[in-house]
Amino acid sequence: MSGSHLSIPAARPVIGEAEIEAAVRVLRSGHVIQGPEVAAFEEEFSELVAERTCVAVNSGTSALHLSLMALGIGRGDEVVVPSFSFAATANAVRLAGAEPVFADITPDTYCLDPDAVAAAIGPRTAALMPVHLYGHPAPMDRLMPLAARQGLAVIEDACQAHGAALHGRPVGSFGQAGCFSFYPTKNMHALEGGMITTDDPQLARTLRLLRNQGMEQRYENEIVGANMRMTDVAAAVGREQLRQLPAWTEQRRANAKVLDSGIEGLPVPQVADGARHVYHQYTVAVPDGRRDAVQRELAGQGIGSAVYYPTPIHRLRPYQDLSAPPLPETERACAEVLSLPVHPTLGQGELERIARAVTVAGGLR
Ligand SMILES: *Cc1c(COP(=O)(O)O)cnc(C)c1O
Repeated sequence: MSGSHLSIPAARPVIGEAEIEAAVRVLRSGHVIQGPEVAAFEEEFSELVAERTCVAVNSGTSALHLSLMALGIGRGDEVVVPSFSFAATANAVRLAGAEPVFADITPDTYCLDPDAVAAAIGPRTAALMPVHLYGHPAPMDRLMPLAARQGLAVIEDACQAHGAALHGRPVGSFGQAGCFSFYPTKNMHALEGGMITTDDPQLARTLRLLRNQGMEQRYENEIVGANMRMTDVAAAVGREQLRQLPAWTEQRRANAKVLDSGIEGLPVPQVADGARHVYHQYTVAVPDGRRDAVQRELAGQGIGSAVYYPTPIHRLRPYQDLSAPPLPETERACAEVLSLPVHPTLGQGELERIARAVTVAGGLR
């Protein structure tokens, strides 16, 4: 599959025979909503997050939204988030009734800059929501002490970072809550789905109530809740994907190495000290306004690429009314980033072809 005439997609979600058989098995069983498969998926996923308790929901956005609700964060509260992320990060804050406050990133890893976060904290700040962007861990070693000093909750947006770690500690095991997504293009999927991780049994109970109309016992509603349940079909697919995740992650990391050594003339992704990067995206920076030309050149050669994200959240219509401080690194990243294929189904020939094409296109003026 590495012939030079074949096109290389930016992402290649896997729905294999194992996933199909798992889904059919659940459909035949007749137990399709939040049953034994969901319970098993929650149990198995906890291995990835230092044995924390896991609560499955229907999307990564729901995971973030429910975490905020369960922590009592809402009207009148502010949550510090990066503007350089998927809109879901800020949307979850607004959905919970709180307001996002945007802080800038560090240019080397595209994750939150702890100094910018410190400057963004004010009297209404209730939580920090760092994003482990592209599969690289945010600087939790600095953000956790900062949050502790200020009495703030931390909700990790780990939607792109299944299996990433900092100094040996997995993402999703630092904050009061960690949130993962199982959307098809993520490092593993469940068709759609999300997972919340926590080491607080009381919070876990509240999360379970909130995802199911506030009920533990049927029709004995304790609080106002939503319906954010995961189906057993999704969980069965997720379990199959979870089994394959370690091998896929190693393949992503190996693919990134091939790209690192093959790409010349453009900055390749940086990895912070002690960070385990799982390369949800492999993102280079193309300076001097040449990014879109490079992307077109790659497309002409059948090589898919993507820009995550062309517009910072604070410039999206729902957030334009918020007064954001200058976010120069965020603006620069939006203008320069280009994500190349790194998914685990790529062959050596395809990786070499990508590296060569990017090097040539990056050098053209
Ligand atoms: C994908 C993603 C989400 C939302 O996950 P869904 O499952 O699509 O709702 C949130 N934050 C980030 C950073 C993401 O990449």
